[in-house]
Parts: sequence; structure tokens; C-alpha cells
Amino acid sequence: MKVLILGSGGREHALAWAVARSPRVTQIVCAPGNGGMAQIARCVPLNLKDVAATVRFVEAERPDFTIVGPELPLSLGVVDELQARGFRVFGPTRAAAMLETSKGFAKRFLQRHGIPTPNYAVCSSVAEVVKALEIFHSPIVVKADGLAAGKGVIICPSRTVAAEATEGLFSGALLGEPERQVVVEEFLEGEEISFLCLSDGKYVTPLVPAQDHKRICEGDTGPNTGGMGVYSTDSMLNPAMSDWILRHIAEPTIRGMAEEGVPFTGVLYCGLMMTARGPQVLEFNARFGDPETQAILVRLESDLMDALEACADGRLSQIEMRWSPGAAVCVVASSAGYPGSYKTGLPITGLSAAAQVPGVQVFHAGTAQVGGQLLTAGGRVLGVTAAADSLSQALARAYQAMGEIQFEGMYCRRDIAHRALGAAK
Ligand code: AMP
Repeated sequence: MKVLILGSGGREHALAWAVARSPRVTQIVCAPGNGGMAQIARCVPLNLKDVAATVRFVEAERPDFTIVGPELPLSLGVVDELQARGFRVFGPTRAAAMLETSKGFAKRFLQRHGIPTPNYAVCSSVAEVVKALEIFHSPIVVKADGLAAGKGVIICPSRTVAAEATEGLFSGALLGEPERQVVVEEFLEGEEISFLCLSDGKYVTPLVPAQDHKRICEGDTGPNTGGMGVYSTDSMLNPAMSDWILRHIAEPTIRGMAEEGVPFTGVLYCGLMMTARGPQVLEFNARFGDPETQAILVRLESDLMDALEACADGRLSQIEMRWSPGAAVCVVASSAGYPGSYKTGLPITGLSAAAQVPGVQVFHAGTAQVGGQLLTAGGRVLGVTAAADSLSQALARAYQAMGEIQFEGMYCRRDIAHRALGAAK
């Protein structure tokens, strides 16, 4: 079976690695892929912003199954286009992906279906925001409606700052493109959990939970990034709470989308805040998280392809996913300067020694294979991922492997999962 993976990040490398373990898969093509994916797949350049080019590429390659990694092609309707031409695809349609691509849509949907989420107002002008702000207490969260690559959420210490942030979003000064809608939201405190599920549009199967670290600096300080590390353990959600989230958040979401005539198939990523009044939905993503996927997939014992195909074919209820007990972590190695500007084209060494550490997989993100040499090609360069019986062992393995890797200006957070480790002691 020939599988096509669209994307080029650590998430897609982890997907390719997991797909390659399926005995039914004989060929993997990645577009555009990266330096690590090139070691297990044929990588072909492709601009995923260009839906027509993507469709032409798929028609030429004729894969038996296509997995869409990132949100951008989902938001542009690549799944709709491919399904209309008879291709089997894993991922939601453009309309279903609105759970991620419009925060206003997601908030109103959550309210319609009685699914717990912070209080909010969806506003389409600065004047509307200023009026809505009267009933919010600071801090106040202001969110761009559309995709913003992690830059669209602003936590504001006062109404004045919230009004300024809103102006920046509507004018385009903050994100480049002007927003047409802004969500104002109540600020919540608690632990954040990423609760990812697969769905075939009717049935929901949860994956193991994860917690990511978005800030660049240790102690969760500094600017937001795409994610600097993540961990997954059994103990981060007890079975009763996991079941509650499934019954009261994930299943009603999938049921609600089906009732509204936009069935959701693919990965539903529920970004939750565990508050004193229970789990609340902060956001949905309509695809695998990055780097959550890396830590989740190294814990998967059953065949990923079985589950993904079952989603696309509407028979997920027949599939049982099996997970290794214990823990996994993924620590990201980034370029100096990230999330600001950074150099690329720097040689990376030590990957073979890193891969020798038991339980370790190094997933590539911003890397490129150029003339037989592996070079940096992005802000987040590698995700050093380790599975083990315990969180402390998984961390020891990941940081041991990280110690083998070098490139000029390499940076990683040394405190991934440290709070959880402290709590477990
Ligand atoms: P989102 O893209 O909506 O998940 O927001 C990105 C990050 O902003 C989340 O992971 C949280 O850390 C933070 N955040 C978003 N909404 C809230 C909220 N209502 N209260 C507190 N923090 C929030």
C-alpha cells in the first residue's frame, strides 16, 4: 500500500515513522517532507498553500491513502477536493475544520451544544469589543478568529490593553492580515491538557493525553513558540476524568457536528484547561498537534494505519488502539533566535549516537538533506523523543540523546515535564 503524507514538520516525521511500521505499507511519499523523512520515504517538493498543485500531485502519484498533517491545507479544502476525486484521505473537510479555523464558530458551537468553555463574546468591531469588555474582569484573553500559527492569543492585564490588542487584530498591525472577528474570553487558571481523539464522524477513540510547553524559556517564560517540548503519562489524567472528557466534551462535539450536517473525521484535538469547575475547552485543533504527536505515537503499540483507515472508512468502532504504559517525552532542539529570526543551513551532527540511546526516536522538523549533509532548515529543528516505563527515565533518555546532538546555536529547554516530575515525587 502506498501512503502519501502532506507536511514537513516533526509531526509528519512521527506520522511517517509510525506508518512505516505497518506491515501493509510498502511505499511512503512525503510532500514536501524534511531531512529525516527523506530517510524513510520519497520526498517531493510541493507548496501546500496551492490546492490545485496538491490535487495535480495526488492525481499523478495515485496513493492508496493520504494523510494531511498541517492545518493550512485543511483550511483550504484539500480534503474536499481529494475526496471529490475518489481519493481516500485522512482529515476533516474544510467545513468541519472550522472547529479550528474559526474560533468564533468553535465558541458558538460549544455553547449551542452545552460543552464547557470559558465565557466569551464574538465581536466584529472595536466598538463591540469595548462594549463586551465591560462585563469581563482582568486578565482578559483576546483571540484572533482565524489561523494565526500560535500568535493569535493575547492575555491582557487590563481592559485598556485588551482594547489595544483588539485594534491591532482588526487593523492587521498584529498579525499582518486584518481580522474580521475577534473573540474576547474569560481568563482561566489550571493545568492544560491536550486531549486528542480520532473520529470517523460518529465514533470517537481517545489517544493518550499530553501536555505541551509553548514558551521559549524555562519556567514557562518568554514568547510563545510552536511548542518546545511535551510529555505524556498515564497518570496525567485518571480513567474517570478521561472518561468524563470523552463523554462530555469529545463525543458531544462529534455528535454535534454530525447533527449540524458537517461530520468531523480525522483528529479532534481538544485543548483543555483543567479548572476548579472542571475541564473547559480553550481551543480545538482539527489535526494532530506538534510536538504532541511525537510523544503520543512512540507510545502506540497497535498499527496506526489500521486506525487512520478505519476513520476514513467510517468503521472506527471496530478498531482497538493499544498503548504502552509508562511515559514519553519530546524535547525540541531549536535554532538560536527562534521564535524570532534565525540562521539556517548549519550542519547537524551526532544523530547516530543519539539514536543509540534505548527508547529514543529523533524526529526531524526544520532539517534538510543537502548533498549528503544534514543541515538546519527551520526554527524548530529536531524533536528528541523517548519512551520509558517512567517519566523520569523517559526524560533521562531524551536529555542523554540530546547531549549527543550538535549544531551551532542549538537551544533546548532543560525543564520539560519538571513540574509533573516534582508533583510525582
Ligand atoms: P488557544 O490557541 O486558544 O489554545 O490559546 C493558546 C494558549 O493561550 C493556550 O494554550 C493557553 O495557554 C492560553 N489561553 C488561551 N485561552 C485562555 C484562557 N481563556 N485562559 C487562560 N489561558 C488561555
